[in-house]
Amino acid sequence: MYRIGNGIDFHKLEHNPERPLLLGGFEIPGELALVGHSDADIVLHAIADAILGALGEGDIGQYFPDTDPKWKNMDSKLIIQVVLEKMVQKGYSIENIDSTLIGERPKVSPYRVQIQESLSKILQIPVENVSLKATTTEKMGALGRKEGVGVFSTVLLKKVF
Ligand SMILES: [Zn+2]
Repeated sequence: MYRIGNGIDFHKLEHNPERPLLLGGFEIPGELALVGHSDADIVLHAIADAILGALGEGDIGQYFPDTDPKWKNMDSKLIIQVVLEKMVQKGYSIENIDSTLIGERPKVSPYRVQIQESLSKILQIPVENVSLKATTTEKMGALGRKEGVGVFSTVLLKKVF
């Protein structure tokens, strides 16, 4: 009836005014960029991996290898689309998603509502079923030195047919 999955992702931060910082499809203004082969939307990557995990269908690296030039600077909403199609084929829908960003920056709280609304649109679920939180490592380690960001996501899927 229900299946749970978790996903985790890390990306490095860099100074690159050419590259927007995307969190859950929402562009955070005036921030360092996340480095990645795709558009590096770390929230969408963690959520996609959580959904694949719940389905027992591997991870996004299998479907979108970062060695394949085809996926260079790819819009991560496409990853979500592919994963959602898999989920629907298997007869599941998303019950709720909870994600936590770990790092000193970007600060999530000023944009939390916009990011949740963006995720709600991309995932086609009500905004009250999309949670986004943030924490720091108390300045410890690479994330504490602002070298990068991590995101953990948990998703609950419900069998609908
Ligand atoms: Zn990623």
